Amino acid sequence: MKTVHMIGNAHLDPVWLWHRSEGVDAVLATARSACDRLDEYPDFIFTCSTRWFHEKVELLDPGLFERICHFVHTGRWQLVGPMLVQPDCNLPSAEAFARQFETGQRYYREKFGLTTTVGYNVDSFGHTAYLPRFLREAGLDSYVFMRPGFEEKKLPANLFRWRSPDGCEVTAFRIAETYCADISQIFENIEKSLAELPEGVNHTMCFFGVGDHGGGPTKLQIEWILEHGEDIEGAKLVFSHPRAFFDNINSDIHKLPVVSGELQYHGVGCYSVQRRIKVAMARAQSRLLQAQAVIEALSDYASENARERIEKAWDSVLFNQFHDILGGTSLDKASLTATGELLAAESRADEVITSVTRRAFRGKACPGEHRIVVFNPSDKPFDGFVEHGPWLQWGKTELSLFDDQGTVIQFQQVEAPAMVTGLRHLLFKLSIPPRSWRILKLIESPLAESCEQEAKGMDPQVAQGDMLETQPKQLLNRYLKITPGSEAICLNNWKLSVEVLDDPTDTWGHSIDRFEGVRKGAFTWSDKIEVVESGPIRKAIRLKGEFGNSRAWLRLMILGDEPILRLRLSVVWAQVRQLLRLRFETPDLVCKRIDLVSGGFLDRPIDGAEFSLNGGLIVSSKSARTAIIAPEIFSGSVDSHNVNLTLLRSPYIAHHDPAPAGMCPDQPVADQGTHEFDLLVYPDCGDEMDQIEQLAREMTMPPVTWDLTG
Ligand SMILES: [Zn+2]
Repeated sequence: MKTVHMIGNAHLDPVWLWHRSEGVDAVLATARSACDRLDEYPDFIFTCSTRWFHEKVELLDPGLFERICHFVHTGRWQLVGPMLVQPDCNLPSAEAFARQFETGQRYYREKFGLTTTVGYNVDSFGHTAYLPRFLREAGLDSYVFMRPGFEEKKLPANLFRWRSPDGCEVTAFRIAETYCADISQIFENIEKSLAELPEGVNHTMCFFGVGDHGGGPTKLQIEWILEHGEDIEGAKLVFSHPRAFFDNINSDIHKLPVVSGELQYHGVGCYSVQRRIKVAMARAQSRLLQAQAVIEALSDYASENARERIEKAWDSVLFNQFHDILGGTSLDKASLTATGELLAAESRADEVITSVTRRAFRGKACPGEHRIVVFNPSDKPFDGFVEHGPWLQWGKTELSLFDDQGTVIQFQQVEAPAMVTGLRHLLFKLSIPPRSWRILKLIESPLAESCEQEAKGMDPQVAQGDMLETQPKQLLNRYLKITPGSEAICLNNWKLSVEVLDDPTDTWGHSIDRFEGVRKGAFTWSDKIEVVESGPIRKAIRLKGEFGNSRAWLRLMILGDEPILRLRLSVVWAQVRQLLRLRFETPDLVCKRIDLVSGGFLDRPIDGAEFSLNGGLIVSSKSARTAIIAPEIFSGSVDSHNVNLTLLRSPYIAHHDPAPAGMCPDQPVADQGTHEFDLLVYPDCGDEMDQIEQLAREMTMPPVTWDLTG
């Protein structure tokens, strides 16, 4: 006889096709309904996740919260999760995952006096490979999910041992069909739950209840289960909860198949759509991490208030990792709100960094001297290029820069990010030990002799402000040869192009695992190639391109004799239901792909399927490995000769199949307007994975620099 654990639940999206205020209303209605059903049916059990849900009831209806506490203590209100919300499970950083679990467990412990051991994300659009490690680190041994569904990923069974690349394991259960079955679906779901069990296992779970906008189990559903509990041949139905199910199969764990790596895919369009939220999320996470590092390195100067501000900002970041927010599938206005909150979190981190560092270094100011502090709060050494914009009263250009030992530092004056004459930034190379700093001295005087000599070494073919007229038109150093063309730009033996494809899919990109729309063409680049920078440290050229109603500028930069190309693409995007991608084509056969994902590196297939990215990827041919480091590009595919990075998608916002795309032509379109992409291309990067991680880290968390004057 098999046991079907009937799990009463209510999936509740705080934000999706509605705003947060409506999500709060749904919480209160759902909690009341669940408590009433628990009163009415003594065998019924309700399963509920997330700190956010419980916290809203606690704040807004204390009497109802008391009822929940009572049912928690009698074991009939089962806490799972335990995260702030059910987040997107691809894009958050490892730190964010740890915080999601930690904040939920802490809340459960403080309010209910217990924690949970069951992870629970029933609607998230795929799951990163290292999630078993994050679950284990949070004290969880099991996991409930639903996506990817049966049609999206074949699994050996609905119950298995899920293993991360570093060998951590949890017991995972995939819900059959849906988490919110109504009365007409329950029987079918029970059958599927039983059919997908591994051999020799006699317990399964079936979920029921009204969901998405909350609701929970209805009287009809509960009574149907009571009435039909013994009607299924060879199986009985019992009201239960995930922990009871996992306890019952505990002695069968050795019988379960092992599934290694990520659980993908559902809605590959979610990895890239509504890019502004994803960029804001990446920046907020990085800046908060850096603020924490600053607080740790300069703890004597960090107030309790600074720590509290960081925690509060993290709460906002964690909330906006909710799967329909970070996935980019909510209403347009809800997405704007999320982006604003993430920008505010980043700003709060900035304020903390500013107050702690300035307090710590104030005593090192020397009246009359223009000092520049370059502070590396990371626990890793920094060895790279620093860009800093000192305040120089509109255009004092005759400068010298010295380090703390009085040694001349070679620098280059480069454009500031403003169209104002006389405003320049300094670019220089510096090494800084972990959690340490350098204090430089800037003197308004002619260039030091050593800089002049270096400057004479400039390539005379690329003088700043000129057009690149030489034949062939090239940007060169010892390792890199860049030759712009009208469509493709050659980088050594690779070709780069910025392509446009038709993308007739809905906001999620439902039912596809790759973008295969008709190729509409590529941005064509003007043959007027402008030399933007031509100094001893950095050389840069700028190309102007057009496609349809969209335009773009591509800036290609090489730093001295460094083997890495920096590429900055600025786009004003006006295409509708089309997709923009950066295509790298190689004549060599790609034989291996390793991606940076949340928590580490991951081998992925070279079959053209779309995957989410968390920093970039490395592709290998027989002769070389090439790294593309792109912390603000979130999705891409690799096939035998191409790396395609998905830059922008422009479906209608909150458009879900099968609704026809033409039903509301004035619905907002995603990702219109200005976007900037900044990435490093590192041909022949070798085997040093640490170096790739370091480059990605230094792009997102460069040293903190500021003027220390007066
Ligand atoms: Zn959902």
